[in-house]
Amino acid sequence: MSDFDFDLFVIGAGSGGVRAARISAGHGARVGICEASRVGGTCVIRGCVPKKLLVYASHVAEEIEDAAGFGWTVGPTQFSWPKLIQAKDQEIDRLNKIYLGLLSNAGVTLYETHGELLDPHTVRLGDQTVTADRILIAVGGRPWVPEIPGIEHVITSDEAFHLDELPPRVALVGGGYIACEFAGIFRGLGAEVAQIYRGDAVLRGFDSDVRRIVSEGQRLKGIDLRLETNVSSIEKTAGGQVLTLDNGETMEVDQVMYATGRVPNVRGLGLREAGVEVRAGGQVVVDEYSRTNLDNVFAVGDVTNRVNLTPVATYEGHSFADTEFGGMNRPVNHQLVPAAVFCQPPVGTVGWDEEDAANHVGPVDVYYSEFRPMKHTLSGREEKAMMKLIVAKESNKVVGVHVVGPDAPEIVQGFAVAVKSGLTKDHFDQTIGIHPTAAEELVTMRSPVRSHG
Ligand code: NDP
Repeated sequence: MSDFDFDLFVIGAGSGGVRAARISAGHGARVGICEASRVGGTCVIRGCVPKKLLVYASHVAEEIEDAAGFGWTVGPTQFSWPKLIQAKDQEIDRLNKIYLGLLSNAGVTLYETHGELLDPHTVRLGDQTVTADRILIAVGGRPWVPEIPGIEHVITSDEAFHLDELPPRVALVGGGYIACEFAGIFRGLGAEVAQIYRGDAVLRGFDSDVRRIVSEGQRLKGIDLRLETNVSSIEKTAGGQVLTLDNGETMEVDQVMYATGRVPNVRGLGLREAGVEVRAGGQVVVDEYSRTNLDNVFAVGDVTNRVNLTPVATYEGHSFADTEFGGMNRPVNHQLVPAAVFCQPPVGTVGWDEEDAANHVGPVDVYYSEFRPMKHTLSGREEKAMMKLIVAKESNKVVGVHVVGPDAPEIVQGFAVAVKSGLTKDHFDQTIGIHPTAAEELVTMRSPVRSHG
């Protein structure tokens, strides 16, 4: 046993930190962890989980609207934002307790305070210090907003979960995950929503057909999507907030929400002073074992800005624990990570998109299907779904699956196993579809629509 207070001290009790702490403890390590906010981190407290609950809530109005097409007459309905937020908060409290329980059951010592690295083995926790053989930085990220006049009037996703009332008119700035998801939430709950994005289609970095179908789909939902537009300034007025756009137009809303990216949450952490290599934006530089330039200091999750998704952080934390304390060799492979955007219509995706595939895997065939989901034949909605396979010509392996439409995230989770396992188009062809589903399309597409490379 070392002379240090702990074998491992973790700074940050979010998805990555909690997983690393409890798995390390399970391997017999003496583990301490600190958290300045609430145990659970961004995902549980102010991210994925509360967001998904609001997404569910926002779908209800549409179900009620569609009911008539299926023969139902629904009486007067009413929505209460405070009730929704209260129910959501109760669920987050429950999950927070579960996370606290996970730590205490694993025998991890929790310090509910900010941690600062004083040197490679010492962490300051308020007015005390602790020492540890190994230290793991798992502090996550925080929202970033550009410096434009009036930016102090805007909210980010952090505050969106705690608004007292649903703003009747909302402007969302950004075209990434969070802006698209919240545009759908606010719109579904009945707000007038404008989404302002500087690019030509939302979700840059995704497959071009995904971007097109989501952009069109958001407009069909009634979102006023302003593409190739940015905000120059924001002014608070008696009636709300007035945005001046870079095309000279103005727009009055009740709430402006920025979702223009997140940055590593390294403020006040003392990383550079302690000798940890940190890039300009705050990103901690690590290798495939999540090890920093210092032998005993590691980092996982969004603070490393590799693939900023919760399951990736937990995977990194678990791999770190197994490698350092479980006697295993578990480098992290960030290839073929599936992802979803819970916008409306939602997206599920894994592997290469059409634009990048040929550069990375050589010549590819593209299989594509765009259709009206069966449900909407009776609901009357004009919405489209799309499914796309990218197949490497030489190996016949399916190297990309992209889906937009109802249940896309659920569908792609299953297909991600096939892509990660390197299954070929023949395997897909030999798989019998489940009828009638949308997903059967992925095993019944017979002829490529185009090829590249
Ligand atoms: P993203 O990086 O996804 O999107 C940021 C958006 O803001 C982009 O559209 C970007 O435009 C735009 N932007 C950046 N700078 C400016 C600027 N100065 N003026 C105007 N627009 C600007 O970040 P998010 O905040 O949406 O999400 C952060 C991260 O959180 C995501 O990357 C993802 O990793 C994670 N997340 C994952 C979710 C999921 O798994 N479902 C859900 C929510 C978040 P451009 O494209 O032109 O650069």
